[in-house]
Amino acid sequence: MLWVSGRDVRVKNLFDINYYYFFDFDFTMLIDTHCHLNFAAYKDDIDEVVQRTIDAEVRVINVGSQYSTSQRAVEMAEKYPDNFYAAIGLHPIHMFDMHVDESELPFKTRKEEFSPEAYEKLAQSKKVVAIGEMGIDYYHVPENVPKREFARIQQWGFLKGVALAKKLKLPMILHCRGSKEDMAKAYNDMLRLLKESDYNNGVVHCYTADREIARKFIKAGFMISFTGIITYPKTDELAKVVKEMPMDRLMIETDAPYLAPQLVRGKRNEPRYVGYIADRVAEIKGITYNEVEETTTNNAMKFFNLN
Ligand SMILES: [Zn+2]
Repeated sequence: MLWVSGRDVRVKNLFDINYYYFFDFDFTMLIDTHCHLNFAAYKDDIDEVVQRTIDAEVRVINVGSQYSTSQRAVEMAEKYPDNFYAAIGLHPIHMFDMHVDESELPFKTRKEEFSPEAYEKLAQSKKVVAIGEMGIDYYHVPENVPKREFARIQQWGFLKGVALAKKLKLPMILHCRGSKEDMAKAYNDMLRLLKESDYNNGVVHCYTADREIARKFIKAGFMISFTGIITYPKTDELAKVVKEMPMDRLMIETDAPYLAPQLVRGKRNEPRYVGYIADRVAEIKGITYNEVEETTTNNAMKFFNLN
């Protein structure tokens, strides 16, 4: 395979039945339900990346993680209305000043407080389809903030985001990452806060926890989405999560620029690689690529209310 898109990933094996779908014009477009083409990682060649995304016939939910990138996500969605939608929100790591080293793409965060008014104003654009990403992150710990304050500030900001989503009747994109010592606590805290808010229209993005936690979120009515991590070696427990996921709750995403799938690992990720994730879901579940494509696309369209 010389090049990759959401579509031609099917041609990986000429003896594979999926090969014939290449000639089928009635195909579904994959939806990358979570990426960040609004981030600085694309500042030098964004036009080319957008063009490759369009050529691959992939639609994307471009996700903000603070006010400035949320605003940029809205601008991009308005500029490329056929393929792009926007989500707006404040990621917990942007509630503190810290240095973050993420997949060899280090950056500095500047403390921002969630302003419901400012985000509500941004949400007036018809291209805004979700609030997020927002959630709980006990993995990245800022210096000079007492531990208890750290959790309290995040939870307070998160609850304001949930309240806005509820008010605007928009779905939520939820980020959750536990500390190295206690992975489950972040998920359990987030689920408790969501239950207290009495709002379950959300997707737990980039899921990396175990089956037990996944069952709790499924039972509470949430969607779960998976990144290229499921294509990495030594992710047996995650494969088991995918295996037992009800298909109507499952979505796929690249989380680009991070987490490039195994075959392109180490590179900057792009939405056109989302096909690799669909392919791995098909493999784990023992179903066809087309089935994954159709179901995850339908799920995303319903969840984000796309047309
Ligand atoms: Zn993200």
